[in-house]
Amino acid sequence: MRYISTRGEAPVLGFGEAMLTGLARDGGLYVPETIPTLLVDEIRALGGLSYEETAFRVMRPFVGDAFSDDEFRTAIAKAYQGFGHTARAPLVQLAPNHFLLELFHGPTLAFKDFAMQLIGQLFQIALKREGRRVTIVGATSGDTGSAAIEAFRGLDNVDVFILFPEGRVSEVQRRQMTTPSEANVHALALKGDFDDCQARLKDMFNHFEFRDAVGLAGVNSINWARVLAQVVYYFTSAVSLGAPDRTVSFTVPTGNFGDIFAGYIAKRMGLPIDNLVIATNQNDILHRCLTRGRYQMDGVKPSISPSMDIQISSNFERALFDAYGRDGKAVSALMAEMKETGGFTVSQGAIQALRDLFASGRVSEEETLATITAMHKATGELLCPHTAVGVAVADVNRDRNVPMITLATAHPAKFPDAVEKATGQRPGLPERMGDLFSRPERVTSVPNDLAALEALVHERRKA
Ligand SMILES: *Cc1c(COP(=O)(O)O)cnc(C)c1O
Repeated sequence: MRYISTRGEAPVLGFGEAMLTGLARDGGLYVPETIPTLLVDEIRALGGLSYEETAFRVMRPFVGDAFSDDEFRTAIAKAYQGFGHTARAPLVQLAPNHFLLELFHGPTLAFKDFAMQLIGQLFQIALKREGRRVTIVGATSGDTGSAAIEAFRGLDNVDVFILFPEGRVSEVQRRQMTTPSEANVHALALKGDFDDCQARLKDMFNHFEFRDAVGLAGVNSINWARVLAQVVYYFTSAVSLGAPDRTVSFTVPTGNFGDIFAGYIAKRMGLPIDNLVIATNQNDILHRCLTRGRYQMDGVKPSISPSMDIQISSNFERALFDAYGRDGKAVSALMAEMKETGGFTVSQGAIQALRDLFASGRVSEEETLATITAMHKATGELLCPHTAVGVAVADVNRDRNVPMITLATAHPAKFPDAVEKATGQRPGLPERMGDLFSRPERVTSVPNDLAALEALVHERRKA
């Protein structure tokens, strides 16, 4: 299996190298050269299998010879053994034909664990085999960073640096990043917003001298291996509800477009998905883009669903690449235009292709809170604010005859203030993380400045 860049000018890589690299050297994102498909009978045969066995069968065709079957099975088994639910991604029913896919039973209580735990295991195998050491630098709006630290803490061949926007992550998120005591973990509070964190990260990747000197590796949602790991739960949930003999739809609370892009890949692989719905909070650049045909930045407004507070939705570039008939030059031109002017207009053909694939909706802060209140009353379920955005958008966009699966992206206890405000109930952390608030924190405050950041990475990493 070969991987190509969305901008068409980076070296073609195998799965292992694409995973270890993250961002392509031309600034693009790696995508598989072709999307493998599963036969209807192969999808039907997933019925009743464990999450891990389904994961193996769904992801195997993308991995090529980067890992042996044994290595890959072992990595999957280790990745999910620490989850607090044997189904890994259980379904809960909210209303007739509306289901919630609970993706928050991993160690940091958000869906990011599905990908990050697997990547941690795969990095470990690949780096040991090659006797290599890498420096992982990630940017986070909260959940990616904690998931990455949880996945890489204490691993031998890795230093992990996480940039988060100072003062803009929840206390649980911050503590999950600042309390691990392992020497290879470095939590960096950047003076800026999430887009600044993401921009500095991209700058580091585009500074090849630095990139090569520290063995820079990226595990942000642009990493193809992360997208791939997220394809699996589209299969497990759809098959539970009758796929391939029944069509289902999904609504996905969306920020960086990684999670919903995984749904698109599942569809391309042959899973019968009727509708893929993008749900955004008041930072609705994706919803505006789909409705108006223009991708235009207008500043981040902090919300109660902070993991979706972004303007530059990195993985959207992968969707654009396909919508433009895989024309890397066209994608490059759009991205250059965005860098210069803060936006671009999507061509007629491409916007039509995107509208054929995705629906979208946006939810205000008030509507998000009202949805948490209403769902608690109607079902007893406590929703995290991101999930509530999804549930609200799903309700407007669903066909009552097709099962709708809304992705529950985080545990309510990760965002207790919003949940308490909406329901009067303060959700408690699961017992296994009970001492989070009593552990000492370790964090470095950093300026929004590339040279300072690079100097810090050089100084702190274990050479
Ligand atoms: C990361 C995250 C999202 C957004 O997912 P993307 O893949 O970036 O679109 C939504 N909800 C929560 C809780 C998250 O952590």
